[in-house]
Amino acid sequence: MLKVIGLWINTLVDQQLPVPQELVGVLPSEVRTRLVDYLASGLPLVGYRGCSWCRFACGIDSSKMGSWDLTDGIWVWPEGLAHYVEAHRIVLPDEFITHAMSGRAKQRPTALKTTQATTRNIGCVGARLDGCLQ
Ligand SMILES: [Zn+2]
Repeated sequence: MLKVIGLWINTLVDQQLPVPQELVGVLPSEVRTRLVDYLASGLPLVGYRGCSWCRFACGIDSSKMGSWDLTDGIWVWPEGLAHYVEAHRIVLPDEFITHAMSGRAKQRPTALKTTQATTRNIGCVGARLDGCLQ
């Protein structure tokens, strides 16, 4: 099952998702650089008809935030997550950082599934992933 990371709260209904401003923190520069490279080189998984936007409202062109969900076969994240880590200094969970630093090769998942909890938490995003199962 894919683990979802890098989705942000949109409404008060999805308060389980974080606000990226609350995730700003310190990482060693080498770790941050490798993490950005890892995120940016994810494998395209699901494409959308529109681009994301930066929740820090930094002025980056939305086309640079991307319109894909990327994966490594274990995790799935929005294409723009690398921007948050690099430009806004957010810190991702230790579990993901350890995984990303492990050197494990990325691979496409053989089946697209998310946990029920993840699907419930991410609402329509989970629906779009589950919709790709057939
Ligand atoms: Zn930004």
